[in-house]
Amino acid sequence: MITAYIGIGSNLDQPERQILQAMDELAAISETRLNRVSSLYASAPMGPKEQPDYLNAVAEISTGLAPLVLLDELQRIEDDHGRIRERHWGPRTLDLDLLLYGEQVIREQRLTVPHPGISRRAFVLQPLEEIVPRLQVPELGAIRELSAACKDQQVRKIK
Ligand code: ATP
Ligand code: MG
Ligand code: MG
Repeated sequence: MITAYIGIGSNLDQPERQILQAMDELAAISETRLNRVSSLYASAPMGPKEQPDYLNAVAEISTGLAPLVLLDELQRIEDDHGRIRERHWGPRTLDLDLLLYGEQVIREQRLTVPHPGISRRAFVLQPLEEIVPRLQVPELGAIRELSAACKDQQVRKIK
């Protein structure tokens, strides 16, 4: 089993409900166990500003699935939540990003791990630091330092 981290985001159609349901669905993926989840965090949208604020969280799973098979499962769950892919970084019911897959570095057409946004996004770094404060991110270093470097971004832990 590999320990992997999933970034969860939503800013449409009851974000809190979308995220809590997504956590249950992560737990139901085959060969996969949900180990722990972060608190929920609110943040202003990245990219287009005329959209609702986001709610984000991070989940830790253990999985026997290969990375691209896991990505298929994440995209299936996004589709089940009625995600419509319009504008890049536009509003969405559910975004599930594979942040980390063990210590692996993956650069494929469909999949880049560690997730390319990880080092610049407080809404990912803060919940990740909450659940794994001693995490070392492959190629990027200590979560504590990455997170500290993004402290100027407004992210509110809400529950
Ligand atoms: P961002 O990736 O910057 O957070 P986004 O989450 O809005 O933006 P999506 O529309 O969800 O982007 O995904 C676009 C594509 O990114 C997907 O089709 C997927 O193949 C690819 N992708 C590459 N690396 C990853 C990853 N680590 N996790 C999820 N999707 C990835
Ligand atoms: Mg994303
Ligand atoms: Mg995504």
